[in-house]
Amino acid sequence: MLLQLQKYSLKIVHVPGKSIPVADTLSRKFIPAEPGDDTEADLNIQVHSVINNLPVSNKKMEELRIATRDDQELHQLKAAIQNGWPDERQECPPKIQEFYNHRDELSIIDGIIFKGEKILVPLALRPEMLAKIHSSHLGIEKTKQRAREILFWPGMPTEIHKTVASCPICIQKQNSNPKEPLLPHTVPTRPWQKIGTDLFTWEKKDFMVTVDYYSRYFEVDELTTTTSATIIRKLSSHFARHGIPETLMSDNGPQFGSEEFQQFAVSWDFQHTTSSPGYPQSNGLAEKTVHTVKDIMTNAKASGTSALQAILEYRNTPVDNLASPAQLLMGRQLRSILPTTKQHLQPKTIRPADVSARRNEKQTKMKQYYDRSSRPLPPVKPGDAVHVQLKKGNDWQPATVTACSSQPRSFVVQTSNGSTYRRNRRFLKKSRLPSPPPTPEPVSPTAAPAVSKPVPADVQSDVPPAPPAPSAYTTKSGRRVKAPAKMDM
Ligand SMILES: [Zn+2]
Repeated sequence: MLLQLQKYSLKIVHVPGKSIPVADTLSRKFIPAEPGDDTEADLNIQVHSVINNLPVSNKKMEELRIATRDDQELHQLKAAIQNGWPDERQECPPKIQEFYNHRDELSIIDGIIFKGEKILVPLALRPEMLAKIHSSHLGIEKTKQRAREILFWPGMPTEIHKTVASCPICIQKQNSNPKEPLLPHTVPTRPWQKIGTDLFTWEKKDFMVTVDYYSRYFEVDELTTTTSATIIRKLSSHFARHGIPETLMSDNGPQFGSEEFQQFAVSWDFQHTTSSPGYPQSNGLAEKTVHTVKDIMTNAKASGTSALQAILEYRNTPVDNLASPAQLLMGRQLRSILPTTKQHLQPKTIRPADVSARRNEKQTKMKQYYDRSSRPLPPVKPGDAVHVQLKKGNDWQPATVTACSSQPRSFVVQTSNGSTYRRNRRFLKKSRLPSPPPTPEPVSPTAAPAVSKPVPADVQSDVPPAPPAPSAYTTKSGRRVKAPAKMDM
């Protein structure tokens, strides 16, 4: 009866029969107890059915019982459950105030405290339970859901969140970062001020494309080798023709990272900027031009026409509703095989302000479109503990930011084995805990003192369920109750 009525606060008063003016019928005509049917046994079955229906092994129940007994905080709680709660939360001892709102659901069965049908885990066993509940490395929400089915303690969801967020295995397998809002290139204000270059292979031959950010005019070179010396010779030739740019963008190819190339940038007096490895988007114009050039060459080959004539036509064709690349770069249209007037070939300048305005307008639209599916990432700075993904889709590994690179969103990081890498912000995740991350131990050492009995090292291994509890039994009403499979939580 007490179990059934546990959500009520009862007061039982004994009134002697002589004080009751009219006798209660039932008190005079109770059902006589049948032989073998005693209330005590009934109550025990009820208790066992609650406990047996938990997916917890008997060995673990014993550990819970001992840890509950030895948990100082739970002493006051047990007293409140057994002797009744004060009317006001404030009147509770401070340590058990957080349980006040759950007071109607709390009960003690067999030395273990329950909230409804969930076990209240004593402090000493919480680290172990956290480790077990997360042993299959499901995500934060799934782990929480799993725990909520059978376990309870104040602040459990927060602790689960922290455990999962700092789990080295889960961190390693995190998803890649979403893309960040577009960081547009500054629009150059005159021709050949800023150029981009990229290498590509077409029909087993190596090529280099060099494109002007202002006019979109490009040069294509077939390369005999892809060494720094060859690249430098080709670029020098373009610089001799169009002038030296202020800025040259390239990727991180070895020919651009060499000492020789750096020397070239110094002696020709231009700024060389490389995109972060694995993040060629920042050299996007050159990449895009590679596609254009490949298309032109493939189409020319298929139609048996001259690729160079096709390139000439491209240079004469207006881009971005502005003017042709040739017009923007050289101030004139180029004579081609298409019939044209002498007037059309006369030099004519497009106002640079108009070009910049149009480019800015286009870039703003593109950014709006791009940013709809992007999210800015929180800032990182040198000294920050991070996890780095060396290549998109790779595992995340712990590292420390050692420097900001000259490029925005580009950082130099050092991994635990001492290697340094430059990576875009997109390949870094801020570590939620200071490095190094803790190794997943079933029991944290801080929890040890509260346990009277040392927790055996094999707690994570499966313990064969102890036999005493029957796996199924029949209730008084004849319903057959089957105990659930143990999972040794
Ligand atoms: Zn994990």
